[in-house]
Amino acid sequence: MIRANPDLFELEVLTAQNNADLLIEQAIAYQPNAVVIVNDEKYAQVKKELESFGIKVYAGSSALSSVVQMDVIDLVVTGLVGYAGLHPTLKAIEAGKAIALANKETLVVAGELITQLAKEKGVNIYPVDSEHSAIFQCMVGEFHNPIEKIILTASGGPFRGKKRNELERVTPAQALKHPNWNMGSKITIDSATLMNKGLEVIEAKWLFGLHADQVEVIIHPQSIIHSLVQFEDGSIKAQLGLPDMRLPIQFAMTYPDRIKTDFPRFNFADYPSLTFERPDTETFRNLALAFAALAKGGNMPCILNAANEVAVSEFLNERIGFLEMSEVVERCMEKIDYIGDPQFDDYVETDRITRIKALEFIK
Ligand code: MG
Repeated sequence: MIRANPDLFELEVLTAQNNADLLIEQAIAYQPNAVVIVNDEKYAQVKKELESFGIKVYAGSSALSSVVQMDVIDLVVTGLVGYAGLHPTLKAIEAGKAIALANKETLVVAGELITQLAKEKGVNIYPVDSEHSAIFQCMVGEFHNPIEKIILTASGGPFRGKKRNELERVTPAQALKHPNWNMGSKITIDSATLMNKGLEVIEAKWLFGLHADQVEVIIHPQSIIHSLVQFEDGSIKAQLGLPDMRLPIQFAMTYPDRIKTDFPRFNFADYPSLTFERPDTETFRNLALAFAALAKGGNMPCILNAANEVAVSEFLNERIGFLEMSEVVERCMEKIDYIGDPQFDDYVETDRITRIKALEFIK
């Protein structure tokens, strides 16, 4: 996006968890002020490569939380995976930076805390997640009109239509083959289990200030309608397009403007039927668990998220089966202490304990 619109943006900081090679390549191409490599074992390599360009190099996760507060930054794009996004996002909001949020887990874990702080600081959180971007795009010009409900679309993932007995033995490689979207491994597994949609339900609640019963999920295998809003007069607005993450990323960064692109265009004649189905929450139990966590509130979504992060990682390492992922999440939701009104430290502790317990349950 920045490559296509070099006059619109100045890149100040780039960060990466582990991928030092790509970080170095992009830093040389875009010449930011500074980079952060979270894995400090890679610090020496990054430092050596970027020293001659005058680019500052920092390491470790605490560096993430400080660079987001730099004066020159207007907008922080948070694309971290999972719970790790929470602290840097919180720090960026504290420093008054606008957020383009690609890290849904931040709102899942601590939606109340984050949205409250953003309100206090007058900070806008722009959704990057395609469904939430769709809703946001439908809301332009309608912000004063109450939402009756929103309908999040889900592709259904690679196992749509399958039953439990067919899913017992599916492998990580099968689960990683997403029909429509090309994404990282955590979110692709979450899409296969429908946990991704569950996390998005919770994310939507916080982004748009809704109640749990105002969020619906519908399976739409073609992934052309990215989501819908129903207003109080019964009218429904939808946002459509080919599945391409560049569009929601760009809209989060250029709102309220739309910038000309050369992305492939959607043609109705190529899609004579757009179809819809109810989600099968008997088979894909994670979606039901996420709705339950949202209804319960407090630290329950944090428990759900941490247990799921462990479960996905254990599944990817072939230590548990596909269906066991939901079992781990449910067990943690039942067994871990519930806190109705958690503060930041409670989230940190809930996340820590849940990860330990989830691994114990797996053994
Ligand atoms: Mg999404």
